[in-house]
Amino acid sequence: MKASNGKLSPIEWLRSREAAMTQLLGEFVGAESSSLEKAAVDRFGKIVAREWRRRGAEVTILPQRERGDHVRAEWNPLGNRAKRQVLVLGHMDTVYELGTLARMPFRLSKGRAYGPGAFDMKGGLVIALFAVDALVAAGVMPEKRIVFLWTSDEEIGSGTSQAVIEREARSSDAALVLEPALGPDGRVKTGRKGLGEIEIIAKGRTAHAGLNPEDGINAIEEIALQIARVSGWNQPRRGITVNAGVVEGGTRTNVVPEHARVVIDVRATRAADMRALERKFHALRPILRGAKLEIRGGFNRPPMERKIAAGLYAKARTLAKEMDINLGEAFVGGGSDGNFTAALGVPTLDGLGAVGEGAHSPDENILIRALPERAALLAGLLSTI
Ligand SMILES: [Zn+2]
Repeated sequence: MKASNGKLSPIEWLRSREAAMTQLLGEFVGAESSSLEKAAVDRFGKIVAREWRRRGAEVTILPQRERGDHVRAEWNPLGNRAKRQVLVLGHMDTVYELGTLARMPFRLSKGRAYGPGAFDMKGGLVIALFAVDALVAAGVMPEKRIVFLWTSDEEIGSGTSQAVIEREARSSDAALVLEPALGPDGRVKTGRKGLGEIEIIAKGRTAHAGLNPEDGINAIEEIALQIARVSGWNQPRRGITVNAGVVEGGTRTNVVPEHARVVIDVRATRAADMRALERKFHALRPILRGAKLEIRGGFNRPPMERKIAAGLYAKARTLAKEMDINLGEAFVGGGSDGNFTAALGVPTLDGLGAVGEGAHSPDENILIRALPERAALLAGLLSTI
């Protein structure tokens, strides 16, 4: 993307806007938006909507009953001539409960901006707004309609937003996800494991541990044997992990327990492995004679395979190189809304948001001088996809 008519290039222009970007981030962080507090998320959503209206975007509020409302901002600089669309994804909710701001206020120190949600991912929301400003300032208009979708429940599994995301993704040529970048060098995420939760419930038969243990069927023992079995399915080098994370069962030590359960976190790098793993779980049979098993759950976020990000990553890398930035890539175990768009076969690039550290921790912060660079990168992608 070359600036014409002696105008500043987007990165030059954005560097001159660094203080304004930081100030807007302060306003965003100041509006707390815990996933579980609808009123708070809605209040923040109104601020986000206001910023998009200011930029001439057509804003639609997608009302939700229990969760915060989602905000859809459509920016269509060429009017209705744009036939195809690009989807930019982000979430407005944070993991921090209301009141966190009092002990963790927005503050600037040594080139970093601190505060709840600054990194995950209010910084990303700021980056999107200024990317649009930069394109307007440079007179470089995307040929496609750009749909910015800001959701309210990513941190709690995207229950109300998944269908909306998938609907938009189906008519999009690409999905750009403004989740935090990885590491101090700001790597983008070109792959994510799929993940899910599987529950194994064992039913045995109760008996007295001293008088007639032979009449009992020990459900805890059954669960323990099943855990040993499924733990053998771990293949870390292939990206398959099976982690028994919660176990419950039994009543008293002198009673053969009738009930026990385990909840297992499952992750896989490949969609085929995910499906195979799910089948294996649902085919589990009892090991102890007379025991019964029930299997519930499965994968809820499919993997984002690298091939789905490869083209966009190559483009982003070239754009970054023009700014003298070496843009690295990373494969991560955690999931995001990018998993949904990738699963539909839509080219997806994740981790395009802020550069920082300490997501979900009291130290959460972003690197201020990376804000203009990330906005320039997004602007470049929007105008060339
Ligand atoms: Zn996030």
